[in-house]
Amino acid sequence: MALVEEILTACRQAATSHGVTKVTAVHITVGEMAACADALRFAWVACRGRFPPLEEAALDIRTVPATWVCARCGAEYREPVGRCQACGAALPRLQSGLELRVDYLEGDDDRHGRASAGLPA
Ligand SMILES: [Zn+2]
Repeated sequence: MALVEEILTACRQAATSHGVTKVTAVHITVGEMAACADALRFAWVACRGRFPPLEEAALDIRTVPATWVCARCGAEYREPVGRCQACGAALPRLQSGLELRVDYLEGDDDRHGRASAGLPA
């Protein structure tokens, strides 16, 4: 919940500073080691009503798989391994999977609102 509220707060600030009056979608990137996408979606729907102009914003999540890379030979693993199976070096390091960032928002700004209402620019 707290994580989603942080995202909503950041999105509200971005929307306000760009003159967006209604956010329709928020696109984020989440590493699979950073957060559970299903839990984020659930919390998003529960919390967004308190963060205008995001009350109806959909959450689009791009999930990044976790990968571990051997510092010595560059071998990649999709699961944590204690020792590189290719060269025997210890503890390949986590290279991706901890990302959590807002990529962009979609929404209606003042200009778009006037245009769709058919008023002169
Ligand atoms: Zn290796």
